[in-house]
Amino acid sequence: MALKYEADGKVLEIDHDKCNGDAACVDVCPSSVFEIVGGKSTAPKMSECIECCACVSGCPEEAIKHSSC
Ligand code: SF4
Repeated sequence: MALKYEADGKVLEIDHDKCNGDAACVDVCPSSVFEIVGGKSTAPKMSECIECCACVSGCPEEAIKHSSC
């Protein structure tokens, strides 16, 4: 299952079949977009995203896709 988040034309997808909840995205995101809920990554603050792509490159499970990266 993939969760999809959209804000200001940006689209972020998190694949929960791949996500292991290790919070690498929480650690690397400079805008505090992510939150681990129930052992999986969520992106409740997608509107704060600055399109730096750190989450895409930083996820060890390659669970994150971003329309700008
Ligand atoms: S692209 Fe950068 S700012 Fe946006 S969610 Fe990923 S790490 Fe955070």
